[in-house]
Amino acid sequence: MRSIGKKAKKIVIKVGTATLLDDRFKLDIGKMNSLVEDVVRIKRQGTKVVLVSSGAVGMGVGRANKRSRPKEKHLIKAAASIGQSSLMYNYESLFRKHGQLVGQILLTPDEFRHRGKLNTLIATIRTMLYKLDAIPIINENDVVAFEENTFGNNDILSAYLTSALEADLLIMLSDVGGIYTTDPRKGNAELINEITSIKGMAACRLDPSTNGKGVGGVVTKLHAAKHLRSSNIPMIVVNGGQPNVLSRVLKGEELGTLFRWKSEP
Ligand code: GLU
Repeated sequence: MRSIGKKAKKIVIKVGTATLLDDRFKLDIGKMNSLVEDVVRIKRQGTKVVLVSSGAVGMGVGRANKRSRPKEKHLIKAAASIGQSSLMYNYESLFRKHGQLVGQILLTPDEFRHRGKLNTLIATIRTMLYKLDAIPIINENDVVAFEENTFGNNDILSAYLTSALEADLLIMLSDVGGIYTTDPRKGNAELINEITSIKGMAACRLDPSTNGKGVGGVVTKLHAAKHLRSSNIPMIVVNGGQPNVLSRVLKGEELGTLFRWKSEP
């Protein structure tokens, strides 16, 4: 049993592209619907939820009937533009069935660098959460993000957001079950239940490859965890394909890998 999930009142949930899309870059509406139902359930139990969702570029690829992620910068951005509106259309339709308000927020690192922008962002999200009972659905603003002004992936963005909002927990829904001792596709891999120190992180042998749909991977998840360590906020990486995974994590079930910080010598 993990008490961290049970105590969390305000959480950030990050959803990876592979958790939402099928192998042809098409939205798996069943998966999105399960996610939405799980989010609605935990919200009704009193948890405040901020959703960081990837999938814009991937969905744009699928909507344009392409077979793989483009390499050319402006094609990626064009795909993100097409996919982002489709992503939000689907979230909006599914949440609306439960009478749940949602709103879109697109961010770049600039919003975290300038105090005024960050304060405005935090105040807006708080207003959505506490005055309108709405769920902010956040993504990187892939159309304008570039070079020195890009997170490049939502793992890092969600970690920045979690600490800026002083949330109690970041849950990363991934297509893998958590962090493993070695590449889980190669056998002999054991799921690490808990990582409590930077030394513990160094112990995991990493495979930096991703699934080819999104851009995150184990390495970006560890960077995100390191960022959260400075604000002492826990993070759980868990397979988003499991039924009712959010409700179960918040009930204290030991799923995925928990990062929680003890002071290091
Ligand atoms: N912002 C990108 C998108 O929506 C995803 C980044 C990521 O996979 O972390 O496609």
